Amino acid sequence: MTHPVPQPGIMDIALYVSGDSAVAGHAQVLKLSSNENPFGCSPAVAPAIAATVGTLHRYPSTDHAGLRAAIGAVHGLDPDRIICGVGSDEVLQFVTQAYAGPGDQVITTQHGFSMYPILARAAGAVPVTVPEQTRVVDVDAILAAVTDRTRVVFLANPANPIGTMIADADLWRLASGLPDHVVLVHDGAYAEYVDGFDGGAALVDAHPNVIMTRTFSKIYGLGGLRIGWGYASREIIDVLTRLRQPFNLSDLQMAAAIAAVQDRDFVAMCRDQNATWRRWLTDRLRQTGVGCDESHANFVLARLADATEAGVADAALRADGILVRRVTGYGLPEALRITVGDEAACRRVADVIARVVEARVGARA
Ligand SMILES: *Cc1c(COP(=O)(O)O)cnc(C)c1O
Repeated sequence: MTHPVPQPGIMDIALYVSGDSAVAGHAQVLKLSSNENPFGCSPAVAPAIAATVGTLHRYPSTDHAGLRAAIGAVHGLDPDRIICGVGSDEVLQFVTQAYAGPGDQVITTQHGFSMYPILARAAGAVPVTVPEQTRVVDVDAILAAVTDRTRVVFLANPANPIGTMIADADLWRLASGLPDHVVLVHDGAYAEYVDGFDGGAALVDAHPNVIMTRTFSKIYGLGGLRIGWGYASREIIDVLTRLRQPFNLSDLQMAAAIAAVQDRDFVAMCRDQNATWRRWLTDRLRQTGVGCDESHANFVLARLADATEAGVADAALRADGILVRRVTGYGLPEALRITVGDEAACRRVADVIARVVEARVGARA
């Protein structure tokens, strides 16, 4: 018996691996493996959701007008140039589906977000991985890798899983240096953690081939609801909208997102707390002798001595009911990506890692 053959590329997809959420023997885990907000979401979200339950038999609005207006008002953007998706992942999917196909190339970087090659292959395209410079995206390497077949360049800025950013001048140099037939995706999943950063909005306004994507999954604490959005030229938004299912977001999702985006005090509190405890955790890891780049996101990447020590630290954390993310699949077997939790969480995770490192140093002495 022969089976139906899927489209090219699909069987080359390696399934996305999400952060663990349970440890055997621990009823209560401290989950620092998926960059979730330790403070949950805005208190305005639950009543906004409750207000939608009487009309769940109705189809939702197809144009997302209320949510796009709310996002536009908060960020000073034209709502007609915003598209909303089931997480920003869906917007990223629209981009690859719309602009890349069999035989085309999609550029990602050495430690780039693992969804990018998945989306490239789903469109039948080939992911091309470009080296970074000491864990920072290398704009010149990206520009050098562009060919006639390049259709999309993915750039997370801040980057995941490292948290580094590229300089504004480099970002603009990249956008200006790309040929017109290449779409630059500036993935701003962590943009809200960078005080004063527009997430790439001005870059979009200056370049017809740039799209910025944003999410409600990180600082807004709504990863469980799946809401994201993109901002680009009217022409790109018109293309992507043709691929979007008319009812991709429920009224419940949209009501939650509107309440969340309007609660600027909550966002500011989360940004401040994150900055304080990211600084503390970074310094503490470095004092322990653990390498840690300056992160601009809500996680840090702790680089231990080698893959073995990363495994020992991960096991010690699990034994304590703490989950972080191993990033071997990202080419960083010696590292652990740790979401910045609240004060107690940061202290717990730093103590366990210090114990592991001190045991190694002590054994050698
Ligand atoms: C978390 C994350 C996203 C957000 O994905 P959603 O689908 O919006 O939950 C996008 N890009 C990067 C780099 C991320 O880390």
